[in-house]
Amino acid sequence: MTEHWSPDDCPSTLQQDVDLGSLNTLAIPARCRYLARVNCVAELQALLEWRRQYERDQQRELPLLILGGGSNLVLSSDFPGLVISMGILGRELLGEDENSALLRAGGGENWHQWVQYCVESGYFGLENLGLIPGTVGAAPIQNIGAYGVELKDCFESLTAVEISSGDEVTFNSAACRFAYRDSVFKQELLDRFIITSVTFRLHRHPDVRADYPALQQYLAGQGVGQPSPQQLFEAVCAIRSSKLPDPAQIPNAGSFFKNPLVGAGDFARLQQEYDDIVGYPQADGQVKLAAGWLIDRAGWRGYRLDGVGVHDKQALVLVNPGHAAGNTLLQLAQRIQDDIRQRYRVGLEIEPRVYAY
Ligand code: FAD
Ligand code: NAP
Repeated sequence: MTEHWSPDDCPSTLQQDVDLGSLNTLAIPARCRYLARVNCVAELQALLEWRRQYERDQQRELPLLILGGGSNLVLSSDFPGLVISMGILGRELLGEDENSALLRAGGGENWHQWVQYCVESGYFGLENLGLIPGTVGAAPIQNIGAYGVELKDCFESLTAVEISSGDEVTFNSAACRFAYRDSVFKQELLDRFIITSVTFRLHRHPDVRADYPALQQYLAGQGVGQPSPQQLFEAVCAIRSSKLPDPAQIPNAGSFFKNPLVGAGDFARLQQEYDDIVGYPQADGQVKLAAGWLIDRAGWRGYRLDGVGVHDKQALVLVNPGHAAGNTLLQLAQRIQDDIRQRYRVGLEIEPRVYAY
């Protein structure tokens, strides 16, 4: 068939047949057909138009994967499509009053550096979310959370480009439907929008949230009673560094499973069998179980097979020191899920996005 379309027509620099091993924190070796990095909204819109042209000419779909820091995805095979690497940068103070400030960051900004910049500039609220890998644009996708704070607590709005039309749309918090490690972008609007910037409403006075048990323990150990935002940020970074594997040393995607929610009756049943089981009652009457506790108690911590394994300091983190294929990791995940279901009659849901072709 004659190709009207050519990679040379692409408005962005298009790399072909690229290994994504260094672009995902699990170091899974998978190849993609095309990779392009976008640095501004207009470039992104032109690239999406080019993809639509490709699909019209070729009369077949060109699958699309939006890539931030690659810290929350599992590539279970090669990707036969276009990977768009989010490179839109920029930090802007949109306005402030005595109590709060509106700040916007480009979707390609590094999340941790953004948090650090805000704390150091005197804009508070994101301290507990320090040292989470990835980009600003990916943060709303699963409403990132840690140490008692979620993105939604400081979120004002975001801008996104609709993949089918190239139109720019603004979403407020209600439209994002944030929930526990969840948003509309993982549900009804999955694969429909590319987030290009996020606007945060931050405090101009310290609003320290240090009630999370691990934080309290750490600060007490340091002799710090009332931490400043900077001290809180440093405490979060120190705890995380001591417990979580650095993906650059031991490839991983953070927590591999979400903490499951069970009914109060099921929790009471589990408590009878396991009197030290960890559960946190939720406002809706359900109880959040610590998935890491379930996996640890089942004996998986430190387990290794075929280059993959379970981290020895935190059983919720699966690791890939052997740079094994995504399927090897998913086989281990399946074995853990089966075991947990059999032991506790509780289902575990994988947290990172799994791409299978
Ligand atoms: P990617 O992995 O690149 O992408 C994840 C998903 O979002 C993909 O489906 C991708 O297509 C989509 N996506 C990415 N960017 C965009 C965009 N701009 N527009 C539309 N879709 C997009 N998460 C927590 O919530 N809390 C934690 O404490 C935490 N700790 C972690 C610790 C470690 C060591 C690691 C490795 C991961 C951790 N994570 C945590 C998970 C992860 O860091 C976050 O989910 C992060 O927001 C993912 O960002 P990313 O840029 O790497 O996304
Ligand atoms: P941890 O302190 O050992 O706690 C284990 C689990 O118990 C956590 O998952 C946490 O749920 C829950 N928990 C603890 N205290 C709680 C409280 N007072 N109220 C409600 N829930 C409570 O956890 P960790 O593994 O060291 O991680 C520390 C924080 O970083 C957690 O918030 C965790 O979610 C976050 N984190 C996330 C990822 C990821 O990839 N998603 C990776 C690493 C760390 P929550 O998870 O709901 O907080």
